[in-house]
Amino acid sequence: MHILDGSRGEGGGQILRSALSLALVTGQPFRIHSIRAGREKPGLKRQHLAAVLAAQRVGSARVSGAELGSSELVFEPGAIQAGHHRFAVGSAGSASLVLQTVLPALWSAGAPSTVEIEGGTHNPLAPPADFVRDVFLPVLARMGPRVELEIVRYGFFPAGGGLLRATITPAPLQPIELTERGDRTLHRARCLVANLPPVVAARELAIVRREFGWGPGQLEEARVPGPGPGNVLSIELGFEHVRELVSAFGERNRASEFVAQEACAAAQTYLQHDAPVGEHLADQLVLPFALAGGGRFRALPLSLHATTNIELVREWLGARIDVRSDEHGALVRF
Ligand code: ATP
Repeated sequence: MHILDGSRGEGGGQILRSALSLALVTGQPFRIHSIRAGREKPGLKRQHLAAVLAAQRVGSARVSGAELGSSELVFEPGAIQAGHHRFAVGSAGSASLVLQTVLPALWSAGAPSTVEIEGGTHNPLAPPADFVRDVFLPVLARMGPRVELEIVRYGFFPAGGGLLRATITPAPLQPIELTERGDRTLHRARCLVANLPPVVAARELAIVRREFGWGPGQLEEARVPGPGPGNVLSIELGFEHVRELVSAFGERNRASEFVAQEACAAAQTYLQHDAPVGEHLADQLVLPFALAGGGRFRALPLSLHATTNIELVREWLGARIDVRSDEHGALVRF
């Protein structure tokens, strides 16, 4: 039984989700204490509980401590159940994070699966569903497993109400090298607006046009239905070997110009570096690369999320993961 301290490193929900994924793919149980001890309201929130219950169902697991607010959990996985699953976060909590928790088990299963998850599709502090679809999944496809992700309904924080549908075709993971971007192939900004006046998109895209000098062909506005108001501005940068998608979220009493400036600053940070793997993709690639048992990637400077994930995976799998960092970024070798 792996014994984990949830307060380590980042001290957030990531260590729990990674442990659930690892338990499912290795068939090894774990006990975790001090869950999200680094956060203002520690313990399991609805979104983390949804990830635990989804992992329990996919892995026929015996679980104790799966309650809202719980700071301790025991998870003993059984047989993986491929096939059709439907989960609901039950709040605007991120459906993407629940999906990412069960994906490794399903991409290594003996048969294809479809998974539907109700919840938030575009949440601050979580991967927007289009980041998962356009940035994470294409790298995974190069390693073998194919996952088609459809945003059936958009769901923005705080109303939620979104629906993701993923179709997973399992395949053994092959190690890859992701050390260069290659030539730039596309750049565009997309402003999603639900139940808000059109001027929001116009003001945000005007800032992107001023910052990057892009024309109308690169500036897209999409009005989407949703149960509540929502606004996200995403900037997508495509290269031969990788894509990056940075996002900023509209909030009540936050000027559209601030939202746009945040997205532009994140895009500029990526453009000022030359490593292919951006901050968020880095922590999300640790698990598939480690499970592939080889390969390497070059990333922007690693976040605490990424180093926490690396430590957990090293201990769990007994894997050698070599990290060489300098002020420009990190080379991570598996
Ligand atoms: P907490 O315990 O803080 O409430 P959490 O369970 O919501 O945390 P974190 O532990 O903070 O989640 O992990 C969030 C995950 O979302 C990380 O993998 C991070 O890289 C990813 N993420 C956050 N923002 C973005 C973004 N803009 N684009 C892509 N991925 C993102």
